[in-house]
Amino acid sequence: MFQFDNSYARLPDRFFASVYPEPVEGPKLLKFNEALADELGVEADFSDPARLAAILAGNVVPPGAMPIAMAYAGHQFGNFVPQLGDGRAILLGEVVDRNGIRRDIQLKGAGPTPFSRRGDGRAALGPVLREYIVSEAMNALGLPATRALAAVATGERVFRERIEQGAVFVRVAASHVRIGTFQFFAARGDNDGVKLLADYVIERHYPELKAAENPYIELLQAVAGRQADLIARWLGVGFIHGVMNTDNMTISGETIDFGPCAFLDEYDPMKVFSSIDQMGRYAYRNQPGIGQWNIARLAECLLPLLDENEDKAVDAANAVLKTFGERFQMAWIGVFRAKIGLETEADGDGDLIQALLGLMHEGQADFTLTFRRLSDAADGRDEAFLGCFTDPGKAAEWLSAWRQRLAGETRSQEDLAAGLRAVNPAVIPRNHKVEEALAAANYGDLGFFEKLLEALESPFEERPEFAAYMQPPKPEERVTQTFCGT
Ligand code: AMP
Ligand code: MG
Repeated sequence: MFQFDNSYARLPDRFFASVYPEPVEGPKLLKFNEALADELGVEADFSDPARLAAILAGNVVPPGAMPIAMAYAGHQFGNFVPQLGDGRAILLGEVVDRNGIRRDIQLKGAGPTPFSRRGDGRAALGPVLREYIVSEAMNALGLPATRALAAVATGERVFRERIEQGAVFVRVAASHVRIGTFQFFAARGDNDGVKLLADYVIERHYPELKAAENPYIELLQAVAGRQADLIARWLGVGFIHGVMNTDNMTISGETIDFGPCAFLDEYDPMKVFSSIDQMGRYAYRNQPGIGQWNIARLAECLLPLLDENEDKAVDAANAVLKTFGERFQMAWIGVFRAKIGLETEADGDGDLIQALLGLMHEGQADFTLTFRRLSDAADGRDEAFLGCFTDPGKAAEWLSAWRQRLAGETRSQEDLAAGLRAVNPAVIPRNHKVEEALAAANYGDLGFFEKLLEALESPFEERPEFAAYMQPPKPEERVTQTFCGT
């Protein structure tokens, strides 16, 4: 089924633990992503559904797989934990996709590993479907993210706050190397390990850096750049990751781990959904600052590789860290300029954008809908946009300022409206729709899950049959908190 070529398993033993998935009682395929399978060159045999489910649940280890649990460490909410590792995920192996890109195939919830600590190594149905929905939605929105190949019910129960149905999630990633993977070796003073890992990720994710005078400084710069860009794009779709620990930040620049993540309804820069984020460390607006903090942790790990002279190494790392803020600002303004339809750059653009965001916050305007309705205003239909605010008067003033600024641009009205519709999604995985899908799935009805996935496939189109997915929640539908549910 998979043409495996397992480069990570060829690294020294201390990088991982070899461990086989623990078979489950009654594997049943809930969802399989055929389009992604095709992209990966993965051949699924639907004529034998029992075997397919058995493979995807980990009951049958397919030929060529080399199952391992990866070692990593990480800062969780600012506190360093020297050993985390794959406690309920097993990397089956890697395939090279149709574009020549190496991708990990990982089973999440496949049973205990030496890194499980007190956990059971399992995953519950709700979080599995949630990751399926949100990671595929991110991809359709054009944001780098891990992907969902399949979800399989295990036929077993898992014990969380209450008893839940078990499931396995088949995750596809450019790789599962995290900042925390570097921290694992650095914390042990294993400089050879850090170097081997750095060389591995350069080869796999940044081969163009091999020729650089100091590839490790360039690596730090490149990871910082991808993360700054990624976080700017998160803000552009109102995404709050919720648990930006260093073990949940990839070296590849893909969004990973969708535990307590959520999308903004009404705009509030300090918004937090995650029940475990009591200090608001990972609030919407804090994400770029945390991104930079995490990159600083990566820099610490790389210091021995940056320069033999410690002071020079620190200077080099600091020089890179300084650029994170500028890179993020550039990316952020690029994202939001596009969101208000600007093609050129002018001095007051940042203020114009901030003024809109300020009014949205004050006027409790729905983040997604407000930007989407700006395309109606571009078509001369202001009411839909103004209706998003509790105080339409101020929003009308903003529209005039916006039109004045647009006078300096050359796009036709139609092109402007079309441009706005191409960057401001109509459909996002709204929290209440996600919860609705998960609740129904817990009662055995996957219909809502399927329909939501379909709605999210074309997020920039307004299709009448998916009108309900474009609307903000009614007061009684609002989701105010999300839970890790691991
Ligand atoms: P996460 O919150 O998913 O980033 O996980 C943090 C750490 O806890 C990782 O080392 C996970 O492998 C581990 N972990 C989370 N859930 C479980 C579980 N059910 N069983 C074993 N380990 C787990
Ligand atoms: Mg994690």
